[in-house]
Amino acid sequence: MVTNSRLSDIATAIRTKALDIGFAACGFASVGNVPDIVYNHWQSWIATGKHASMGYMERHASLRRNPQELLPNARTVISLALNYYPAESMPAANPRFARYAYGEDYHDVMRRMMGELAQYIQSLQCCDCRCCCDTAPIFERYWAVQAGVGFVGRNSQLIIPGKGSYFFLGEVLTTLELPASQPLLSQCGSCRKCIDACPVGAISEDRSIDARRCISCQTIENRGAIPAEVAQRMGRRVYGCDTCQEVCPHNSQATPTTVEAFKPNEEFSTLTYQRLCRLTQEDFSRIFARSAVKRAKYQGLMRNVEALDPKLFE
Ligand code: SF4
Ligand code: SF4
Repeated sequence: MVTNSRLSDIATAIRTKALDIGFAACGFASVGNVPDIVYNHWQSWIATGKHASMGYMERHASLRRNPQELLPNARTVISLALNYYPAESMPAANPRFARYAYGEDYHDVMRRMMGELAQYIQSLQCCDCRCCCDTAPIFERYWAVQAGVGFVGRNSQLIIPGKGSYFFLGEVLTTLELPASQPLLSQCGSCRKCIDACPVGAISEDRSIDARRCISCQTIENRGAIPAEVAQRMGRRVYGCDTCQEVCPHNSQATPTTVEAFKPNEEFSTLTYQRLCRLTQEDFSRIFARSAVKRAKYQGLMRNVEALDPKLFE
């Protein structure tokens, strides 16, 4: 039997270690059923087709409902946030890539960092741990809110007060029963900047995103043709879209990441429209070898390039 005071010391040690490893925030939430309001919101998002072609979002309803199905006897979700905001954005005149994709694929970086944290936790106290970063069906923003890491903005992003939303999220599930952090309430107030700025009107009042219209979803997740009404609004965005984060006042306080792996290679950061038009499969494999852009595959990226209006790059 581990005493409450020992668990509290362990929680402090875990948070300190998480920050040492390089995470920007770490919080703890007690495992339980996701409340009906959150679960039903997700179900209605699926039922109305707003998840577009992301069929995987429909699956594993019961696993989403309670993380104990992902790790038997799980007691705590440790929510972690990792800053990816780049020191410099790619030149505005070039095709735009979402900032999250500039450096090494975050799945690999997060896996390494969360693995180190899980090892540390198990060195403190015998327990089971499971690391998740898009690798398990879990409502990660809900758990991040419960763990006091941030709040969900109208743009559907997890926003950390004083730090913004350019963060990757990950979870370490553990059988340790750590003291829960205080959940955070929304701090959007009367702001609607993201709703007004979205080029395709994809953000609803209920904080859901219609992936059928969202440029980010269509240029990354969609494997078919980009709908004409989306293509017309892509502007210079060739992979992803950061507009609803760029306009968010909370991101005026974003500071550059110190994670070396998130810096883009020289060839990536200087890609012009003309260079992208001539890109070969070989070029793609070299330039994006470690990048999340691989997700779109060569065919997907070239489809996006073809959807851009050449006049914007003359
Ligand atoms: S990512 Fe772009 S298109 Fe998608 S909701 Fe945000 S602003 Fe709109
Ligand atoms: S732009 Fe305004 S409404 Fe949108 S997430 Fe940021 S604070 Fe909230």
